[in-house]
Amino acid sequence: MKLTLSDPDLLKLGAYINGQWESANSGKTYAVLNPADEVEIAQVARCDARDTKRAIDAAQTALIAWQSRTAKERAELLRCWADLLLTHKSDLATILSAEQGKPLTEAEGEILYGASYITWFAEEAKRVYGDTIPYPSSDKRVLCVKQPIGVVACITPWNFPNAMLARKIAPALAVGCTVVCKPAEETPLSALAMAELAQRAGIPGGVLNIVSGETVEIGDELTSNDIVKKLTFTGSTAVGKKLMADCSATMKRVSLELGGNAPFIVFADADLDAAIDGLMASKFRNAGQTCVCANRVLVHSRVAELFLSKLTAAVKSIKLGSASDPEATMGPLIHRNAVASVKAKVQDAVAAGASSIVPDSSCEVDGNFMLPTILLDVEPSMRVFQEEIFGPVIPMTTFDTEAEAIRLANDTSAGLAAYFYSRDVGCVWRVSEALEFGMVGVNTGVISNEMSPFGGMKESGQGREGSKYGLDDYTEIKAICMGGIDQ
Ligand code: ADP
Repeated sequence: MKLTLSDPDLLKLGAYINGQWESANSGKTYAVLNPADEVEIAQVARCDARDTKRAIDAAQTALIAWQSRTAKERAELLRCWADLLLTHKSDLATILSAEQGKPLTEAEGEILYGASYITWFAEEAKRVYGDTIPYPSSDKRVLCVKQPIGVVACITPWNFPNAMLARKIAPALAVGCTVVCKPAEETPLSALAMAELAQRAGIPGGVLNIVSGETVEIGDELTSNDIVKKLTFTGSTAVGKKLMADCSATMKRVSLELGGNAPFIVFADADLDAAIDGLMASKFRNAGQTCVCANRVLVHSRVAELFLSKLTAAVKSIKLGSASDPEATMGPLIHRNAVASVKAKVQDAVAAGASSIVPDSSCEVDGNFMLPTILLDVEPSMRVFQEEIFGPVIPMTTFDTEAEAIRLANDTSAGLAAYFYSRDVGCVWRVSEALEFGMVGVNTGVISNEMSPFGGMKESGQGREGSKYGLDDYTEIKAICMGGIDQ
C-alpha cells in the first residue's frame, strides 16, 4: 500500500541515530502493517542491541553541548519543532492512521495533542527554578539547582504513536537531557516522521535518536547500559514491572505510565445525557484502546434502566470503518491478538453469567474490527471487572449507596483514571477524595491535556507527565552548600 503524502520525505524507514538516517546494523528490516486490512505499508530498519548502543553513545556525546545551551535556545528549537508538526499535521495524521488504525480526524487530534506538550514544555523550559535555603549556622547558605538527569530512554506504546513520545521527549529536551526512543514495533513511522521534523527544526544530531525493531534486545540495552540515567515508559503493567526491575542494577530513575482500570460512576442525581456523552468520549476513543478508557460502568440502580436505554442508542450510532472512510467514527483494533484478547474477556464474562448486548448487531465485521458491546450483570470476580479490556466493551454493574460505589471503584490494583457524575457538591468532594486514582474526572469524560498532571497510583505506575510537575522527573536536585559567609 502506498501512502499519499504532500511531503513524501516524511515517510522515513531507517533508524535515526546521531542526526543520520541509517540502516540497521544487521541490514534487516521488518514490515509495518495497516490494522484495517493488514496490508504492508512499509519495511522499516530492524534495529538490535548494537544499533541501540550506538544511539546511546550518540546521545551521551550530544549531551554536553545540549545542556550548555540556554533554556531559551532549547525552548525556541522545541517551539519550532511543534510548529512544524502542526504545519504537517495532515501528513502526520495520514501516517498515524495508516499504521495505527484510528480515524483521520482522531489522528489529527492526536497530532495537536502531542504538539501541545511540546509547546507547553518549551514554555516550562524557562521556569526550571531552584531555591535558596537558610543554614542552621550563620556562616553558610544552601542553594538548590535543578540539572538535567542525563541520557533518557523512552519506550512508548502503539495506541498514541505521536503523543506518548511527544510527552516524553519534550520535557527531557526542555531541561537539557538527550533521548533514545523505542516506539512500539507496530507504529514506528509516526516516531520517525517526528524525528525528520525535529531535524528540520534544527534540533542537533544525537539529541533525539530513534531505534525500532528487536524489542527485547533494544529494551535490554536501554535498561542495562549505565550511560542511560532514566527510563520513561508507557505500556502494560507487566512490561513496566520487568523494565523497573531491570533498571535497578544501574539504579536508573524510572517513570512508568501503566495500565488502568477506570471506574465510571453514575450517581442517581447525575445529568444522564451528560454522563452518556462523557462515557462515549472516554470509552470509545481509539476503539477503547487507551489506558484512561472507562473500563467498568457503575450505575445507581434507580437510574440504571434509563441509563442503559440511552447508552444503547448512543452506542448504535458508532460507525466502524478504516481511516479512509470519512464517515467512520471508530477504527479497527491494532491486531488479531488484541481482538482475540478482548473477545476472550467478553466470553469469560458471559460464561460467568453476564449478558451481552450488541446494539448494532446487523453490521457485519471481520478482520481486526470489533462491534461495540455492552455487558450487563457484571460481577467484581469477572476478568472484565479486574483487567483492562482495551477494546470497545462496556461492562455495567449497579450499586445502591455511595459507599458501595467507592468500594467497587477501588476494588482493583490499578489506579490511573476514574470518572463520576453527580450534581451534589458534598458527594463530589467525598468521592473525589476517596477514589484511589491519579486522575479523577468529575462530570466529564475528558481529563487529559498538557497543563494537567497525567499519571497513576498503585500498580498504574509512578511519576507525572505534563503540567508544572512534568519536568521534575527529568531533573536532579543538587544542593550547593556555600560557606565562608561570616566575616
Ligand atoms: P501493549 O500490550 O500495549 O503492546 P507493551 O507493554 O507490550 O504494551 O508495549 C509497550 C511498549 O513496550 C512497546 O514499545 C513494546 O515494544 C515495548 N516492550 C514490550 N516488551 C518489552 C521488553 N521486554 N523490553 C523493552 N520494551 C518492551
